[in-house]
Amino acid sequence: MTQVAAPAVDTHCPYCALQCGMRLTGVRVEPREFPTNRGGLCQKGWTAGSLLTSPARLTTPLVRVDGELRPAPWDVALDLIAAKLTALRKSHGADSVAIFGGGGLTNEKSYLLGKFARVALGTSQIDYNGRFCMSSAAAAGIRAFGLDRGMPFPVSDLTSADAVLLIGANPAETMPPFVQHLTNAGRSGGLIVVDPRRTPTAEQATLHLQPRPGTDLALALGILHAVVADGLARTDYINARTTGFDAAWRIAAAWWPERVERVTGVAAADQRKAAAVLAAADKAYILTARGTEQHARGTDMVGAWINLALALGLPGKSGSGYGCLTGQGNGQGGREHGQKADQLPGYRKIDDPAAREYVAGVWGVDPDSLPGPGRSAYELLDALGTENGPRALMVFGSNVIVSAPRAGRVAERLSDLDFLVVADFVLSETAAQADVVLPVTQWAEEDGTMTNLEGRVLLRTKALDAPDGVRSDLEVLHGLAVRLGQPDGRFPVDPETVFTELRQASKGGVADYAGVTYDRLRAGEALHWPVPAEDHPGTPRVFLDRFAHPDGRARFAAVDHTGPAESLDDDFPLLATTGRVLQHYQSGAQTRLVEELLTAVPEVFVEVHPDTADRAGLTDGGMARVVSRRGEMTARVRHVSSMRTDTVFLPFHFAGDQRANLLTNPALDPTSRMPEFKVCAVRLEVS
Ligand code: SF4
Repeated sequence: MTQVAAPAVDTHCPYCALQCGMRLTGVRVEPREFPTNRGGLCQKGWTAGSLLTSPARLTTPLVRVDGELRPAPWDVALDLIAAKLTALRKSHGADSVAIFGGGGLTNEKSYLLGKFARVALGTSQIDYNGRFCMSSAAAAGIRAFGLDRGMPFPVSDLTSADAVLLIGANPAETMPPFVQHLTNAGRSGGLIVVDPRRTPTAEQATLHLQPRPGTDLALALGILHAVVADGLARTDYINARTTGFDAAWRIAAAWWPERVERVTGVAAADQRKAAAVLAAADKAYILTARGTEQHARGTDMVGAWINLALALGLPGKSGSGYGCLTGQGNGQGGREHGQKADQLPGYRKIDDPAAREYVAGVWGVDPDSLPGPGRSAYELLDALGTENGPRALMVFGSNVIVSAPRAGRVAERLSDLDFLVVADFVLSETAAQADVVLPVTQWAEEDGTMTNLEGRVLLRTKALDAPDGVRSDLEVLHGLAVRLGQPDGRFPVDPETVFTELRQASKGGVADYAGVTYDRLRAGEALHWPVPAEDHPGTPRVFLDRFAHPDGRARFAAVDHTGPAESLDDDFPLLATTGRVLQHYQSGAQTRLVEELLTAVPEVFVEVHPDTADRAGLTDGGMARVVSRRGEMTARVRHVSSMRTDTVFLPFHFAGDQRANLLTNPALDPTSRMPEFKVCAVRLEVS
């Protein structure tokens, strides 16, 4: 019999927000030309096909019986969930059931999850792991520009930049194909990297500024001071396109570079050099990422970098700008369509009466039946199983036991729940704690749209059938909604049908997808939102004419340096910062299953300066116990002579007692509710 070859399907990588173009033939991955990756893929992308045949794949629901997870038919699992949730809602109210989503879910899933929470469950208790990823940049962007689109310009615009200031970003490891867009800036002597570590990205920089963790805001003030004091500020732009400069400058005026050097450790001359390089460039960009965003003052930290960009006249100008590098695959779309505690589709606010009325009309429900805003991600996890907190949690596309801050506390809260449901395609560490596990489809087994880091909506096309026994998240939500008494057609299972409804629900909102259709995406159109009509070409560059505030002007933020949320003392004398390695993605639930990636980086390590290690009695390759005020973990010691002597670095992809998040501080940003992942006080001991 002649075997029919699997068709080649053009799709996108399952991991990060660069959403590199790839071609999938069966499970064989090849890179393809796409503007963000220009034919490149990183090791994670190249090996992504093996996820599709992983022996760890779940293919049947699991239900906990006598303490053990046992296979069960779908109807049994869904009936059990519906019965439990119904009973809890009856006895403890609608908010006794909570939902936790993910920034890797497609737009369709994010949208339907938000609708399921508000309509089928009537709960306000929904948030998602993107709160831990993009929320500070989003809050700062909305404050400054009136709108949050991570990059308000296409990635390919960076290719002609003479100068790029990257803050807290390590794309050489997190999204390697992105680095090719920085080549011109590097050649022109204009690639400046701010990072407490000498990362592979910092190695390529013309200038590496290495501040003490938690002092980025002071550094931004010092560079802004140098810009203004050295006569480099674009006064014409400030007067014409912004407000609030005077208040911001009153603070920055007190942060002259020598004072900033004493706080940050970055030489005053280097601050002035950074100011001069950025000001001299014809085309300059300032880009932030998690290193400067994941702080208890993350919104203000980003605000300080935006202030610098505004003083230099960069945002809203062709060939220049400010942007943030989104992390998760659908980190942008995932924060627009309703899985966030305070949000309705189209980036609408859930406490806005007009937004509630409009979205309720699309959903065919009474606006008064929609709940108000709920708890943010960490606050939600922290409240689970407490007297006033949710009694049941459903998790989609997230592995909170590894990825949430103060992970030991989060695990405790999960164990105090009456009922935990996890939908995933493998038995993640969080799924292993669940009462019911639902095996769901993954990237190449379903159609769905993603919105990449430049606000471009992409169609990730189904390339192969899911294994028998697996259902899509949309089918799961439909099955549960019907069991909870919802009309059959209210929760569609076909992704394109869901997207058509999403378009309607987002219409007129900030993130307007009304004119995006599957057919236009299939035809390869580059549709960056807003796309308000089917004949609209999309908006690759926002802010060119005006910013999104009513007066059309951007806002300087009057922000000052305060430092990390917790201080060092004799018991905890070092600063720990966390981040990623090239081979692993987020909690590692997927990449730790890929043999090639796990072999390359099989365990957690702690990077430490040899002198610091020596003082703690630690040898290169030995084991260290890293202890914070919240917990401890063990890691293999790596001597790294470029580390600051006051700082250690830990990747956060590993489970059990290798979890960096056992240490991290859940102190929250007052605006974004972002936890302080990027700095906490620790000590090192011999393990
Ligand atoms: Fe591209 Fe990111 Fe996938 Fe790597 S992980 S191939 S950079 S989308």
